[in-house]
Order: sequence, then C-alpha cells, then structure tokens
Amino acid sequence: MTRMLIIGPPGSGKGTQAERISERLGVVAISTGDIFRANVKGETPLGVEARKYMDNGDFVPDSVTNEMVRSRLSQDDVGHGFLLDGYPRTTAQVGYLDSILAISGHKLDVVLQLTADDGELVTRLLGRAKETGRSDDTEAVIRHRLDLYHGQTEAVVAKYVERGILTQVDGLGRIDEVTDRVMSTIDNPLRISVVSGS
Ligand code: AMP
Repeated sequence: MTRMLIIGPPGSGKGTQAERISERLGVVAISTGDIFRANVKGETPLGVEARKYMDNGDFVPDSVTNEMVRSRLSQDDVGHGFLLDGYPRTTAQVGYLDSILAISGHKLDVVLQLTADDGELVTRLLGRAKETGRSDDTEAVIRHRLDLYHGQTEAVVAKYVERGILTQVDGLGRIDEVTDRVMSTIDNPLRISVVSGS
C-alpha cells in the first residue's frame, strides 16, 4: 500500500512517470491535469470553468480543484493507495490534502520530486507542443507555468522536506532510466535522498 505524490515542473515527465510507477506499485494514478483536460474536452461545467485558467497557464482556483480532488479520493479504487500527480501545487492545497487524509486516518508515505533545468524543460515542451497541440504549450504560457512552479510549488516541496518524506530524483535521461531511478529510491520510502543521473 503506497500513498504518494509526484511533483515536478511542467515538462519534467511527471505524467509519464506517474503512469509507470503506479503500474509497478499497483496503485491508481490520479492526475489533476488529466481530469481537467477530460472535462474541457467533454465541455462539462467543470471543464468550461477550468479552461479559463488552463489556457493561460494559471492555476485553476482552489475552490474548484480541492473539491475535485476530495471527490476523486473518496472513490473505491484508492483503497489500495494512490499516486497523485499535479496536486498539491500550493501550500493551501497541502493543508487541504492534509485535512482529507486526516478524515480517513491516512498519511502520505513518500513525495517524489522530479527535477530538470528550465532551459531543458522549455525545449522539451516546445517539442511536445508540435506533437500534441496542447493549448498551454506556447512559449509564453510555458514560461508562466515555470514561474508558478518556482514561485508556488517549490514551497510545497519545502513543506514535505520538513516532514522528512521528500525524495528528489533527476528527471533527465531516458524514460526507463528515470523510472528505474525512482523505483530504487522509493524502495525505502522514508529516506530523503537525491539521486542524480550519470
Ligand atoms: P498538468 O497536466 O499537471 O501540467 O496540469 C495542467 C494544468 O491544469 C495546469 O497548468 C493548471 O492550469 C491545471 N492544474 C492541474 N493541477 C492543478 C492544481 N493542483 N491546482 C490548480 N491548477 C491545476
């Protein structure tokens, strides 16, 4: 049973790694970005609201995001654990997640941070924009998303460092190599470690 978070700047490969890691651990991967995108595609009221923010690279307001996560974490398939991808992104969301977990008497086992430098991330994301046509992958929006990551989400990372559950892994390299690095660090979930590439 593992309850974990994956945190990383846009373009760090966190979505891809979340899928692979959750499969290996036998837990469900929950990506707030994917849930929002599915709602945008389906033109649901949640999607219409979220889109106003996503297209500009802004965070969807907590009033919308927190409730969505609370509802998702109340479903049966999280009974064996979960890997939450893309939440929390602000310290206020950390507090909200704490309160959701406190109700069920659960706590996080490990928080994984994938790292990569901004120059590499911008190059990767501009490449992805050509392949997927994601509306938030233009250069100006990418830079704004990176600024939000440094300005807000790094404070989230700091909180989990304080709690002694953060593991940092270098996100550069082949997808398989990064997955192996991650799996080797979470074998021992309470260790705080920094694993760099070769
Ligand atoms: P991602 O796929 O994780 O990069 O998320 C794509 C977009 O969804 C973000 O740029 C935000 O607009 C929105 N989003 C995803 N997760 C959150 C969150 N925890 N809080 C606010 N907005 C979010």
